[in-house]
Amino acid sequence: AKTVSILGIPFENTSRDAFESLLKNRIEHHENTFVVTANPEIVMYARQNRPYMKLIKQADFIVADGIGIIMGAKLLKRPLQERITGYDLFVSLLEWGSQTHKSAYFVGAKTEVINQLKTVVAQKYPGLKIAGTHNGYFGDDRNIVHDIARTHPDMVFVATGYPKQETFIDKNRQATNGLWMGIGGSFDVLTG
Ligand code: UDP
Repeated sequence: AKTVSILGIPFENTSRDAFESLLKNRIEHHENTFVVTANPEIVMYARQNRPYMKLIKQADFIVADGIGIIMGAKLLKRPLQERITGYDLFVSLLEWGSQTHKSAYFVGAKTEVINQLKTVVAQKYPGLKIAGTHNGYFGDDRNIVHDIARTHPDMVFVATGYPKQETFIDKNRQATNGLWMGIGGSFDVLTG
């Protein structure tokens, strides 16, 4: 099977390389794509929260972002090929996006972090167009969604932590036909 079910969650059973190629291909073809990078905290939370479980199952792909999930899969005799972290995907896609002149929108983290992120991305990934940014501390998301629809980026990175990031993506992913991915604390890591 292409997916392996662990604790009721269908994980992609693929290599990081193959998964990255698949995402790049979908971005090139403007396919609307929602990726959940599920760590053990997300898995446990989903098991206790049915609406969240239902919501993440709406994603196109769920990948195993955590060695605990890889180990659990092995113990259950349903091994997964490789751990695929949100942060690794994020950095690879920024690099590729810079080389191929894609655009990205960044939602999440504190204002000072998102401001620093703009500087870091401009320096390290000069070919990537920053379609827009917004900090992750918002109530009403309408302005952000309008801005995403207006700028129609190739990739939308949402780093507000779970469950907020997946809830935001599930609700708003029709705003642009690109990649939507929740990546936890990745903006803090990249600017750290
Ligand atoms: N964050 C945010 N909005 C919120 C709560 C958190 O943007 O309402 C940000 C926070 O600043 C940090 C990230 O989300 O950058 C959370 O990182 P963490 O590693 O805790 O994410 P998790 O692994 O819990 O999903």
